[in-house]
Amino acid sequence: MVKSISVLGATGSIGRQSLEAAARLGLRVEALTAQKSIKLLEKQIRRFRPRFAAVYDEAAAQALRTATADLDIEIGSGMEGLRHAAALDGADAVVTAVSGSVGLQPTLDAIAQKKRICLANKETLVCAGGLVMAAAAAQGAEIVPVDSEHSAIFQCLEGRREQLHKLLLTGSGGPFRGWTREQTASVTPEQAVRHPNWSMGAKISVDSATMMNKGLEYIEAMHLFAVSPDDIQVVVHPQSVIHSMVELIDGTVLAQLAVPDMGLPIQYAMTWPKRAPSPYERLDFWKMRDMTFEAPDLAKTPCLGLAMDCARKGGARSCVMSAANEAAVALFLGHRIGFNDIFDLVTGAVDALGGHSADTLSDILDADAAAREFVHRKTQ
Ligand code: NDP
Ligand code: MG
Repeated sequence: MVKSISVLGATGSIGRQSLEAAARLGLRVEALTAQKSIKLLEKQIRRFRPRFAAVYDEAAAQALRTATADLDIEIGSGMEGLRHAAALDGADAVVTAVSGSVGLQPTLDAIAQKKRICLANKETLVCAGGLVMAAAAAQGAEIVPVDSEHSAIFQCLEGRREQLHKLLLTGSGGPFRGWTREQTASVTPEQAVRHPNWSMGAKISVDSATMMNKGLEYIEAMHLFAVSPDDIQVVVHPQSVIHSMVELIDGTVLAQLAVPDMGLPIQYAMTWPKRAPSPYERLDFWKMRDMTFEAPDLAKTPCLGLAMDCARKGGARSCVMSAANEAAVALFLGHRIGFNDIFDLVTGAVDALGGHSADTLSDILDADAAAREFVHRKTQ
């Protein structure tokens, strides 16, 4: 179990829950970061007393310096600030809870300092999984997943990696399960962010509605557990009680079940390999409704199909897909494009740019920037 943490993206959904877990487990907090939500960040600073905080937005960072002038804290800004927070000595683990590939370089910095990565920021692995996993292996840095499906697989696989046959990645199917392209054409951002089972940040909520989230998780699983795309089967399970499963070589299936609350996988990433009591509701099998399972309908969830295809073909495709998706989802949330435009723009970016190489960090950063540029050019 770790004793001290830093949280990148402390003001978001995962970040806030990570700080609650840290308080409960008595962990010391060394550094916190946000993009611009300085009111909440200031409250967190006054409660957890970190030595360092970073705000990506320079003007907001300046305002936070003024607001915290009475405290003994240094406030950084921009990518440099995020990277400093990730690498700060004193923290055993870094919770990567920023949204988007902005988390990539700070994650690599934390790995270089051999810190445990409590990994929520899936876009980083989708964009640069090969690089990140190789760096972690070279440094001996632990990567413990926070994403509920990957935490489930991680728990099922402990001590059994060589017995693995395939991963069964479950997903609720999102709020528009079974809807046709004609039906999703008029979906608004307000509808898309209302997920039936989970309360999450805006971007991942839209990703869950398009099923791009399951596609990102498919690629995330491929890197985290070093399996080929064909060894991952997506299973739609609308009740979100089973968080994922593994099938072993003899046909045995192990599943991890719990109430759908991110607090649990967050806490486990901090306490692993131990466990600690938690305040969450318990599953009551006497009251449980049905558990149902079905195959994903790739014709109605084309983003999932696209991600699976990118995973199989490799190159810069996953990175381009994820970065174009980030840009498109931001435009959708700003009411600038429609729900179905997300898939169309992302496919266009992958077709145009996916063949680029993604061998080095600089290749990956270039592919990421080109994908965002592509989306903005097409929507001007
Ligand atoms: P939120 O949108 O709630 O929070 C995002 C956090 O990142 C905020 O602290 C935000 O700061 C910060 N941030 C956003 N953009 C930047 C930037 N450019 N530079 C620096 N900081 C930035 O997201 P979630 O907590 O929902 O998700 C975080 C990550 O965890 C995502 O990768 C998501 O896919 C993953 N995840 C989330 C789950 C969930 O239940 N929410 C479940 C599984 C995975 P500010 O508040 O100032 O904008
Ligand atoms: Mg998930």
